[in-house]
Amino acid sequence: MGELRNVTGGCHCGLVRFEATLDLGSAIACNCSICLKKGLLFVFVPEERFALRAGQEDLTDYQFGRKTIHHAFCSTCGVETFAAGTAPDGTAMVGINVRCIDDVDLAAIEFKPFDGRSL
Ligand SMILES: [Zn+2]
Repeated sequence: MGELRNVTGGCHCGLVRFEATLDLGSAIACNCSICLKKGLLFVFVPEERFALRAGQEDLTDYQFGRKTIHHAFCSTCGVETFAAGTAPDGTAMVGINVRCIDDVDLAAIEFKPFDGRSL
C-alpha cells in the first residue's frame, strides 16, 4: 500500500469536477468490453472518499450487461471520469478513472491487469 492522497480531477471540457482520496501507487487495467474501448484505468475507493464537485446535471449514466456498474460520462465532452458500483460485500464503491486526475503521472502508476472480460 502506498499512501492516501487527495486529488482533484475532471472531464475534458471541465463541466464535471471531482475530488477523491486515494492511493495512486497502482490502478486496475481491466480487459472488459467497456474498459478496453474507453481506455479506462481505475482506482476504486469507498464512496465516502469520492466527492463530485461539479457537473451532476451534466452526467449521462450508461449501464450494460448485468447493469451493476454506473458508467458516468460527461454529456458534452464524452469523457468518463468515474464509475459507481457495489463491491461483493455490499460496500458502495467509486472507480476513479486515473486518466482524469489533474496532472496525473501515468508513468508512476503500476497497472495491474484485471480479467473483467471473463466475469
Ligand atoms: Zn466534459
